[in-house]
Amino acid sequence: MSYLVLARKYRPQTFHDVVGQEPVVRTLRNGLRRNRVAHAMLFSGVRGVGKTTIARIMAKAINCEAEGDDVPCDSCKSCLEVRNGSAVDLKEIDGASNRGIQEIRELKENIRFFPTRCKFKIVIIDEVHMLTPEAFNALLKTLEEPPAHVYFMFATTEIHKVPVTILSRCQRYELKRVGFDVLSGFFAKIATAEEVEISESGIEMIVREADGSVRDGLSLLDQMFAFAGEGDDGKVVVQDADVVQVLGLVDSQVFVKLATAVLEADLATCLQLLEEVYQLGVDLKRFAADMLSCFRGLMVCKTVDDPALLLAGSGLDLKVLAGLAGAYSQETLYQLFQIFMKGVGELQYASRPRLAIEMIFVRATQVGQVVPAQDIAAKLAGFLEKNGGVVPVNSISPQKKTVPPEPVVKKEVAESQSSSRQSEPHSPSPEPPLSPDPVNPPKPVVVEPKKRDVTRDWQDFVTYVKERKAWMAQTLRLCDNPRLEGDKLLIRFDNPADCTVLSERDNLQALTTYSQDFFQAEMVVDVCALGTHSDDGEGTSPREERRALASDPLVELVTDIFDGKVVGIRTGPKFR
Ligand SMILES: [Zn+2]
Repeated sequence: MSYLVLARKYRPQTFHDVVGQEPVVRTLRNGLRRNRVAHAMLFSGVRGVGKTTIARIMAKAINCEAEGDDVPCDSCKSCLEVRNGSAVDLKEIDGASNRGIQEIRELKENIRFFPTRCKFKIVIIDEVHMLTPEAFNALLKTLEEPPAHVYFMFATTEIHKVPVTILSRCQRYELKRVGFDVLSGFFAKIATAEEVEISESGIEMIVREADGSVRDGLSLLDQMFAFAGEGDDGKVVVQDADVVQVLGLVDSQVFVKLATAVLEADLATCLQLLEEVYQLGVDLKRFAADMLSCFRGLMVCKTVDDPALLLAGSGLDLKVLAGLAGAYSQETLYQLFQIFMKGVGELQYASRPRLAIEMIFVRATQVGQVVPAQDIAAKLAGFLEKNGGVVPVNSISPQKKTVPPEPVVKKEVAESQSSSRQSEPHSPSPEPPLSPDPVNPPKPVVVEPKKRDVTRDWQDFVTYVKERKAWMAQTLRLCDNPRLEGDKLLIRFDNPADCTVLSERDNLQALTTYSQDFFQAEMVVDVCALGTHSDDGEGTSPREERRALASDPLVELVTDIFDGKVVGIRTGPKFR
């Protein structure tokens, strides 16, 4: 006994058997009942949704010998001939292999004659978009005035490739992907009919994989039935693990683990999980797409009151996802969704998918807990109120930097705290770690960075000055023995004329700033020609200036908002 594949065994023979496609079926049946069937019909849709099947049922119906509305009867002589492929008046042509003008000429020759056995001749051309332009042209004339005894039915997966001139002469029917529930019900029925045991979740996995195509789903079902073992009673039992293996799927638990790892910024676990998936030989692009669905699930759970509606058939454990999503801000989940979306898109063109996925993980684990801009703004407003309003609140927008242009405050995280600081933003606390510690409010701490040495780094300093004031660098080159005495930078010149301009107050001030910036030390520049000495200390000392800055309300505000610490203060000219 030869085995008949499920797709053939369960091919619909009447309109009642058609899975899904209710609007198309209804329109066709109405047309039959009212005797208003077009002589040229075109069925379009993705593969495996029933285009040729419906065309054949229609062919049956047109020639059915039974009386009444419920045609085809599938039992009269004409219907049976169509069913077993011996109907002489039904011609089925595969457009992909008969695409030339010669085949169309032969066809036209053939349809000139009246049908032999039935009332009508019926021509079905599958994959009609494959015809050559010449063949289409030859066909066009026939379609303009089709003989009364001929019906044309075309099927195509790529309707955009069919010339408009052809389209406009056909009655068009667009077949949709078959819905999740319809397909699940259909497959469950087949499993019962075939006496195969398969769980609901097993069927759901197959339906998801079929992506709306009945035929794809049926051939997967075929594979499952063939793969599965038998139970004690001799009945075939398809385990969920079988489905996972045959489909090359990744267990849904892996996605939960992955999502957790990404949210916890645990890159190591992400890479480890990817390695395991890789070893299973799973299609990585497919895997990445499933991962994207998982992050979409998180985003939906966070946003929608009843996520089950939007995530039906996703195969995701909504309870687990909702729990996970609850611990993170909406902004965090949106941003991760975006990163995966972009990454999966790029993956389509990646020559090494595994590395591309690793890159997605690297990016995703760096997101951290994203703090909504309005939270920062609210915090800012609260702080200003408390402190008598240093800055008008309406001038604070999330896009604008809240750091004042001058003084320049460099916020760095102290080395000793870096590890705890980096993990903190990812901690799954519902509240972003923004609130300042009421017991130990962050105090500006001045830490001296590694110092440059005046003698050793003098040439670099001259270069540094050259980038700012070329002439000043020229002058500085004339000094060959600069040195530091206490906090005095002594710059001596042999010729008093060399340092006249440099000694002017504004220039001296600028040079002091450059020195302090470059050497990261508080120093007073002392310029004079050898033998003379100047020692005036006008204006505020840099030390006092820095002290004032450290306790500036704006600086405190910024450190408070970003939960940071001031580790260094450098004053500099405005343009920086
Ligand atoms: Zn019939």
